[in-house]
Amino acid sequence: MTKIAFIGLGNMGLPMAINLKNAGHEVRAFDTVPAALEKAAAEGMETFSSAPEAVKEADAIVTMLPNGEIVLSVFNLILPAAKQGAVVIDSSTIDVTSARKAHELAGKAGLLSLDAPVSGGVGGAAAGTLTFMAGGSAAAFEKAKPLLEIMGGRIVHCGDGGSGQSAKICNNMLLGISMIGACEAFALAGKLGLDPQAAFDVISTSSGSCWSVNTYCPVPGVGPQSPADNDYKPGFAAELMLKDLMLAQHAASEVGQATPMGQYASMLYNHFLQHGGAGKDFSGIIEYLKSTVRGNG
Ligand code: NAD
Repeated sequence: MTKIAFIGLGNMGLPMAINLKNAGHEVRAFDTVPAALEKAAAEGMETFSSAPEAVKEADAIVTMLPNGEIVLSVFNLILPAAKQGAVVIDSSTIDVTSARKAHELAGKAGLLSLDAPVSGGVGGAAAGTLTFMAGGSAAAFEKAKPLLEIMGGRIVHCGDGGSGQSAKICNNMLLGISMIGACEAFALAGKLGLDPQAAFDVISTSSGSCWSVNTYCPVPGVGPQSPADNDYKPGFAAELMLKDLMLAQHAASEVGQATPMGQYASMLYNHFLQHGGAGKDFSGIIEYLKSTVRGNG
C-alpha cells in the first residue's frame, strides 16, 4: 500500500483518486472546495484542511488542477512539506513552460517529478482507462508507473520533463483541426443533399477517415454512439478544446513554429463558444458552422 496525496478532486481528479483508493492505496485528499472534500470523504478517503498537510507523509503526490499558474502555486506550497524521494505526478493539462518550471521546482526540493497529462475524459477517469502521456526522468517514470497503470489503460513515456504536455497539446491541436474538417465535410454533404449515412459510409472507409469521423462522428444517428446523439452534451467540452488549442498556440509562439490551421481552429472554437457553444461538446461546432453564412471570399 502506498500513501498517495491527491490534490484537485474535480470532474477528473475525484474518479482517479477513487480508483487509487479501490486498488488498496491510502489516499490523502485535498481540494480548496469543501464540497469536493465531502465527496472524497464519502468515498472513504482521509481529507485534509491544507495541501501541505495532505502531502506530508505521502510517497506519491498527484495533482489534477485547472492550469499552470495554479499548479505552480500548489507546487510552491507542497514541495517544502513533501517527503524526500517522493514522486510528484502532475496530471493537469498545462502549458509546457509551466510544466518545465514545475519539474525544476521539484528537482530543487529533492523530489522525482512527472508531467503526466491524460486523454480519455471523465468516462476514462471513472473506468481507469485513461491514456497517460508522461514526461520526466526514467526513475520518476518507473516509480509512478504502477499508479498510472491503476488510473489508465495506456501509459506512454514521451521523454524528458514537459514532453507529456507537448504530446498532449500536439494531439489535441490535431483533434481540433480534424473535428472542424469533419464538421465541414458533413455540413457540405448535407447542403449538397447527400444522406449523412452515405457520407459516413464513404468517408469512414476512405482517405478522409479519421477518429473525428469514425469514432466520434459529429452528426446524429450515424457511426458509433457519440455526443451528437445526445444533443452535443459533453463528452469533451468545447471550452476544454479551446483551452488546449490556446496552449498549443502559446507553445508554437514560444518555439517560433507556424501552425496556421491550429490558429484558425482556435479562432473558430472561440467564435463557437461565443455563439451558443458554451457547455456543448466540441463536436457541436458543426451546428455553428452550418449556421455560418459563406462569404464571397
Ligand atoms: P475541475 O475544474 O472539475 O477540477 C479542478 C479541481 O481543482 C476543482 O475541484 C478545484 O476546486 C480544484 N482546485 C483549484 N485550485 C486548487 C488549489 N489551489 N488547491 C487544490 N485544489 C484546487 O477540472 P477537471 O475537468 O477535473 O480537469 C482537471 C485538469 O484535467 C485540467 O487541467 C483539464 O484541462 C484536464 N483534463 C480534463 C478533461 C475533462 O474531460 N474534464 C480531460 C482531459 C484533461
